[in-house]
Amino acid sequence: MQKGQKISVVCIGAGPAGLTAAYILGKNNVKVTVLEKNPVYVGGISRTEIYKGFAFDIGGHRFFSKSQEIETLWKELLGEALLLRSRKSRILYKRKFFDYPLRAGNALRQLGIIETLRCIISYIHVRLYPNRNPQNFQDWVTNHFGKRLYTIFFRSYTEKVWGVPCTQISADWAAQRIKGLSLSKAIWNALWFKKQKQNSKNVIKTLIGSFHYPRRGPGMLWEKTKDRIKQQGNEVLLGMNVVEINLLKDKTWQIITEDPTQKRHEFFADHVISSMPIRELGEILKPTLPKVAKIAAASLQYRDFLTVALITKGKSLFDDNWIYIHDPSVQVGRIQNFKSWSPEMVPDLAYNCYGLEYFCFETDKIWSMPNDELIHMAINEMTQIGLIVPSDVVDGVVIRQPKAYPVYDDHYDTNVKTLQNVLENDYAGLHLVGRNGMHKYNNQDHAMMTAILTVKNILAGYQKYDVWTVNEDAEYHEEDKITSSKDI
Ligand SMILES: Cc1cc2nc3c(=O)[nH]c(=O)nc-3n(C[C@H](O)[C@H](O)[C@H](O)COP(=O)(O)OP(=O)(O)OC[C@H]3O[C@@H](n4cnc5c(N)ncnc54)[C@H](O)[C@@H]3O)c2cc1C
Repeated sequence: MQKGQKISVVCIGAGPAGLTAAYILGKNNVKVTVLEKNPVYVGGISRTEIYKGFAFDIGGHRFFSKSQEIETLWKELLGEALLLRSRKSRILYKRKFFDYPLRAGNALRQLGIIETLRCIISYIHVRLYPNRNPQNFQDWVTNHFGKRLYTIFFRSYTEKVWGVPCTQISADWAAQRIKGLSLSKAIWNALWFKKQKQNSKNVIKTLIGSFHYPRRGPGMLWEKTKDRIKQQGNEVLLGMNVVEINLLKDKTWQIITEDPTQKRHEFFADHVISSMPIRELGEILKPTLPKVAKIAAASLQYRDFLTVALITKGKSLFDDNWIYIHDPSVQVGRIQNFKSWSPEMVPDLAYNCYGLEYFCFETDKIWSMPNDELIHMAINEMTQIGLIVPSDVVDGVVIRQPKAYPVYDDHYDTNVKTLQNVLENDYAGLHLVGRNGMHKYNNQDHAMMTAILTVKNILAGYQKYDVWTVNEDAEYHEEDKITSSKDI
């Protein structure tokens, strides 16, 4: 092993959090090295994979943020390449398409008058006889919208995403995620002809009718950020799997990586910004974590994800950006139509590229199924739900994404807090950022904001900002401490 160069900051992971941190540090003339285990791509879960000229995301990535600071950064890095796209998305349930966001006429037509009446009666019933002590997701949603709307619009998709019955998902989770306007409330509003004002503060962000998107996918942003970091004189090293993180006696850090040939490299830094999953961090951190923190880290759970990208030739049968598949007879949870996200996602407009999303655990059979079987299954399912003609398929490819979602089980919050306390007290100079890095189920803008505030803390030399208070809209809420984060 060669003695590495002394540097100030090492960022673990070249996803949105790690690259944003490095870019902002570079702007402030700090020496930084980004270590990324993926040998090919930067961008982490927000990367864009390329296959024979077809580009696709790990799930379509909308660019939308309530934080002006993040929007400005996206523009700064992408300029004209950041397109404004209008959104078209629908729900497929029992071979019927429901516009999403819902529209009154369409919802009525698709549900039919009988089913609409059933939904209303079931809603009135639950208002009259609510469950006074909702214990789980099913109880909570049924309480708010009635059993029929729960069954049509929540159960199947939620169970596909999380892989457990809705009775095993906490009621807190439902309360947290289904806030403000929900799908069912949207139906309810639609049926009662309430007008939803797009882009008003009352409309939740999943319903916003347009979004920004880089013309060659989110990976384009992260490739450009990588280039800027290099122009700043810093390094983004790919194929560098961090296998040890050691706090040395002089309070600096030693980081050891393994490259794809198993060769080990070492780096030294005053600060480490980590966006790798906390559970893995807990295994490689030295001095070894106290037992309680080690158990807390090891207890964190993740949901994995795989995409089967199908390439077809000829006219597409739909032009949605994506379709939610609420039909329980197929395993696919959502289907992306990448040409609708941006025409530049396909090399030739005569072709289409669909991303079929399967939510799973690494231990599930589907995860280790051979790729040709997965492609075969994807073709069958797309055909069964009427979205392709099988003879149009010309190619397919499978992408697996472990730890796509941090799981919010009953103990995750306590586990994360236990770890956070230990790290803040005993491992000064180690900063957790991002999605799996903080075990927060959030978007790119949130990951970026945690990185920006962490850099500000490092530059300030003390914990000026509490990064854990960044909310899921990437807003920093600790007004008594500081109100603006635009001082660098
Ligand atoms: C299906 C799906 C759809 C999504 N849709 C959207 C959307 O529409 N809009 C949006 O803004 N966000 C979306 N997201 C969320 C977005 O992908 C994440 O919020 C974002 O990528 C998190 O950035 P990050 O840098 O924190 O983590 P990651 O993207 O996870 O990056 C972490 C990086 O660390 C690397 N790493 C891990 N371990 C090591 C190690 N030991 N050594 C070196 N490197 C390591 C990983 O390879 C990875 O590159 C979606 C996510 C999913 C799963």
